[in-house]
Amino acid sequence: MATQRLQYERPLIQRVNTGILNKFGTRTEYAPFTHIDGVSVKSLISEFGSPLFVLSEKNIREKYQEANRAFKTRYPKVQFAWSYKTNYINAVCNIFHQEGSWAEVVSGFEYQKALKNGVPGNKIIFNGPDKTDEEITLAIQNKSPLHIDHLDELYRVTEIATELNIRPEVAIRVNMDTGIYPMWDRFGFNYENGQAWDAINKIILSDKLELTGLHCHIGTFMLSPSAYAVAASKMSDLAIGVLQKHNIKIKYIDMGGGFASRNTLKGAYLQGVDTSPSFDQFAEAICTAILNAGFHKDDLPLLILETGRALVDEAGYLLGSVISNKRLSDGRRATIMDFGVNVLFTAFWYDHKITPAQEFSHYTEDTVMYGPLCMNIDVVRETCTLPPLKKGDHVVVHTVGAYNMTQWMQFISLRPPVILIDRNGKPQIIRKRETIQSIEMEEILPAQLKDFKL
Ligand SMILES: *Cc1c(COP(=O)(O)O)cnc(C)c1O
Repeated sequence: MATQRLQYERPLIQRVNTGILNKFGTRTEYAPFTHIDGVSVKSLISEFGSPLFVLSEKNIREKYQEANRAFKTRYPKVQFAWSYKTNYINAVCNIFHQEGSWAEVVSGFEYQKALKNGVPGNKIIFNGPDKTDEEITLAIQNKSPLHIDHLDELYRVTEIATELNIRPEVAIRVNMDTGIYPMWDRFGFNYENGQAWDAINKIILSDKLELTGLHCHIGTFMLSPSAYAVAASKMSDLAIGVLQKHNIKIKYIDMGGGFASRNTLKGAYLQGVDTSPSFDQFAEAICTAILNAGFHKDDLPLLILETGRALVDEAGYLLGSVISNKRLSDGRRATIMDFGVNVLFTAFWYDHKITPAQEFSHYTEDTVMYGPLCMNIDVVRETCTLPPLKKGDHVVVHTVGAYNMTQWMQFISLRPPVILIDRNGKPQIIRKRETIQSIEMEEILPAQLKDFKL
């Protein structure tokens, strides 16, 4: 009988932290995170498998209400429009629609999704630089606000509207210097160099389109409310100018999205929870700028907001399991997880907060966290301070509700399911785990390639 040999591990002296204060104070990453809205992480993984996305319906609604309240207490006419590309799982969109949000879409595909979800055409804002003739036609027929991005689109919309003999409501997207660089000037018409006025004059003087709105979206993960104050002043200035020059009342100013969520950008010294401005701060900047711009009370435009990430990021968690631990050649500890950058696209931008989902010792060690892909870029965290995790242990990645469930790729492995914990604390599947069938559904294998002999 062969005796079982112990596995050899190269001996190594490694510094471990024993829970004393460092320059950041006591780190909160160390507390185990075992439940989401009262449902245990362990039970979620045993029921739905690993890895797994979990969303909290309660958190989504609370965030929405918090944002809505911040603006409505400061400005009389406010409307949110849910940014589909941030998370377009239908259950998520419909939570926002139930709360009163319109839809904001940037492609024909997203437009179709909003229609299928039952959003009335006149409450689907159609943004983006790429709209086909068919999509423009459909949007005009459905009375959807078309936000024009460039002159070619302006001419095409004018032609199609003339053919249809309809005078559609349109807005132009405006870009501008808000003091934040690099400037997002690739979308829309520039404010400072006169392009915006050029587009406005063309629309009004041709008389084929009705200019009802002005739109901007100055960036994403913006940490500076004052940039929004600048943008809101410039937008108001245009609206007041249109009234004075052409006697046309702009019905709405759409300030786009871009508010930072409470994630931590890579390289940031302080954590996102401490540095991201609140909805109140953004609302104060925007509403004050519009209210002080000089509108007559009856001419105050509707304020539209297309906030995406700040509303849904915190509601999302990614649950996963440890596949293995190893030592890198320099002695650093590496932990390999069953999820990688294929499903956690935002790992390229954020140092996500990652917490073990079970009790552990108070020793911690700097750890590189890798995903399971056979790709060198598959790094979930370049460095995080974690207690040693064993194979099969679970972790929770926090603040992943924005952009991951739309930018994830089917690459090497299948995409995980998405579970919504509803307001009664009941987990419900809102997107199934992918199967080989769901991927191969779109493939066609030519007859001559069906057989081979090896
Ligand atoms: C992406 C996008 C949004 C949402 O941006 P967030 O940074 O997620 O808030 C809003 N409006 C437009 C036009 C967009 O392209």
